[in-house]
Amino acid sequence: MRMQRWQQEARQLPVTVKPFFGETVLSLTRRLSEANGLPETAVLRAAGEWGPGGTGLHIFDRDAKPNQLALERLATMSGIPVTRLNIVLPGIHEARDLRLPTDYPALRWFRPWPPSQPACRQCALRYQAPGLLARQFDSTMMCHRHQRWIRWQQVDVSSDPAVSDAHRRYLRLMSSKRADRQWLHGQFKVASEIVQTWVIGKRWHPDLAERWQDRIRRLRLAWHDHPVICFPETVTLAETITDLDIRRELALVPDWKLPAFFATVAQKTGANKAELSYNQRYFRQWVDKHRHRFSADRHECLVRRLAKSNTPPPESGHFK
Ligand SMILES: [Zn+2]
Repeated sequence: MRMQRWQQEARQLPVTVKPFFGETVLSLTRRLSEANGLPETAVLRAAGEWGPGGTGLHIFDRDAKPNQLALERLATMSGIPVTRLNIVLPGIHEARDLRLPTDYPALRWFRPWPPSQPACRQCALRYQAPGLLARQFDSTMMCHRHQRWIRWQQVDVSSDPAVSDAHRRYLRLMSSKRADRQWLHGQFKVASEIVQTWVIGKRWHPDLAERWQDRIRRLRLAWHDHPVICFPETVTLAETITDLDIRRELALVPDWKLPAFFATVAQKTGANKAELSYNQRYFRQWVDKHRHRFSADRHECLVRRLAKSNTPPPESGHFK
């Protein structure tokens, strides 16, 4: 039987490439192959046995996890030390439940989260690597070094500082120690869905409509539904609905104090206050649902207040 490439002795390739932080194993091995004039999967095939599910074009949305022997072969072929590969390739440390053989070099495929995506075009140019695929931690949306939005369609956002400011706040929010990541991601999704209803009904939110039109002009966007347009407002809303003190306040205040809450959200986001409070609208429905969840706590608070009791209301963490 013909010897497989991974069964042959590994040798250093004449041309090496600089690895990109967060790069997928697939992207690095493809760049190495191309730099050496080899078919694009040659280095990957030489690194180790692939196992099932490693053929066809669908592998481009995957990452590969190498075992120690495959990692050492990759280090030999690329001339990049194992310690460096361990730092730059997130795929090595993930998918812990994948079973990898230990007695021969092997890689196994998995679908990464966050998914891999083309790296910032300017970063890729610096690495002379068009088509570089990288994984961004915390679902990063932009490259701050080059002021470039990298999700969906890449956009130069240097002309609108509100975007990079919002992105910094977004990263801070997502790494917040006060709440778990899964909950934060879920809440950010809720905020995105609410803001999407404002986008669809923007004639009811004239200030926002004007702001977004201005952003489209300033960023010279060809796609009028690009997610960057309403990103700053989405982050502001996400900050509000994930603020545990605000959630507690919103759950416990009597109905007559609600207009003050809608006024605060309107002032922060630029949305129309009357529209926010209209009970057929999505945001109002979210507010009502939140208050409904904690109606027993609200009732108890009221009873305590009437009885002039000093018992404090539940901690803010209760209102997640
Ligand atoms: Zn960049």
